[in-house]
This record gives sequence, structure tokens and C-alpha cells, in this order.
Amino acid sequence: MSIRGVLFDVDDTLIDYSATVRIGFLRHLAVEQLLDRFESPGAALALWRAIEEEEYLRFLAGEHTFKGQQRVRTERFLAHLGVTADDPVAWFARYAVHRDSAWSAFPDAAPVLERFTGRRSLGVVSNASQPYQTGKLRTVGLLHHFGDAILCSDEFGSAKPDPAIFLAGCEMLGLPPERVAYVGDRYDWDALGARNAGLRAYWLVRSGPGVAPDDGITVIRSLAELDSPAG
Ligand SMILES: [Mg+2]
Repeated sequence: MSIRGVLFDVDDTLIDYSATVRIGFLRHLAVEQLLDRFESPGAALALWRAIEEEEYLRFLAGEHTFKGQQRVRTERFLAHLGVTADDPVAWFARYAVHRDSAWSAFPDAAPVLERFTGRRSLGVVSNASQPYQTGKLRTVGLLHHFGDAILCSDEFGSAKPDPAIFLAGCEMLGLPPERVAYVGDRYDWDALGARNAGLRAYWLVRSGPGVAPDDGITVIRSLAELDSPAG
């Protein structure tokens, strides 16, 4: 059955989230005069990302608000340095200024979206908040490809890999799931989640070996590979 619509993950699929955080966070630590408290910039970044992974999962599980997870991440990171945050919300906001000036799309994102525009219905299904994702897609010049078809877990009330959010994404495009492809970089949330919801799942593995995927999951190494397999 031919694919009529494509739903995308955002972070580390269309937008180079990891590079953006690396650049933005290290700039922030340098300005805050905290960078030399670490053995290396890589060690500082690894700690920040490890805390992020844990607290973001708690946000997705409904234990934190979107803003709440930012505050807790800041408090945990500074506690590791023995620093008490006078105002963790303001500290995170100063980080966000550096991060938000560093957003960049992967070079293969705009070409594939341009090729699909007018030929496929396009949308986003993301585990984040809508203003945040809309803002970063606008910054990197990709927002116009999606119109209003941006569905985020914070507003929807459940997160990938729950089939409900994938099915709501298909409904947003006005297509049944078997007519829709989903493209994302996380195996558990994106590839397995989409496959289990009945979409055609493309797992984007930009580097590294990945793992042998389950049935019904297609591995791609670049968004450019979507041209033919999305059919
Ligand atoms: Mg992602």
C-alpha cells in the first residue's frame, strides 16, 4: 500500500539536537565560569546529558511539568558541583539563550521535505512541548513544511511509544496508519512505537552500528534514503 503521509520526529532526526546542546551548554558553562570545574568539556556534557535523560523520562511519565524538568536538571547538575542554585529557573534560561542561538537542521532535512511537499502530507509527532518544537523548527527554517500538523506529547497527554500519539498523528494528516510513514532516531520510542501502532517505521541511524531491527522496521542512514522507500 502506498505511503501518502510522513510523520517526523524532531530532535536528532530533523534538528541536530545533540550538537546544539553541546555548543550551547559549553558556551553557557564557560560564561558561568563553571567549565574549568570539570576534567574536560566532554565530562561536563556527559553529566548534563545523563541528568537530562533521567529527568526527561520523568517528564514524559507525568512526574514533572516541562518547566519542572528544566529546574530539576539544573539543581541536580549544580548540586554535583556543590553549588546551590539561587535561581535555577534563571540559570536554565541563561543556558537556553545559548542553546537557542545554536539550533541547526541536518543538511538532509530541508531537501527531503522540499521533495515531499505537495506529494505527501507532512507532520511532526514529538515528545516535547509544542511551543518549544515549533520555535526551533521556525528557527531552522523548516516549520513551513508542516503547517499546523505538529503534535507534541505535552499538549496531547501521552508520549511515544504510546500508540495513541502515533494514531492521533495519522488522524491529524487525515490518513489511516498503514498509509503513513514515521521517521525517528530512537529505536524504542520511534521505530518500535510507530511499527506497533501500524505505521510504516523508518529508524534513522546516522552513525554507529545500531541493532538488528525487529520485523517491520526499516533502517535508514540518512533522510535522503526516504525518497524511494517512502514510495
Ligand atoms: Mg529524536
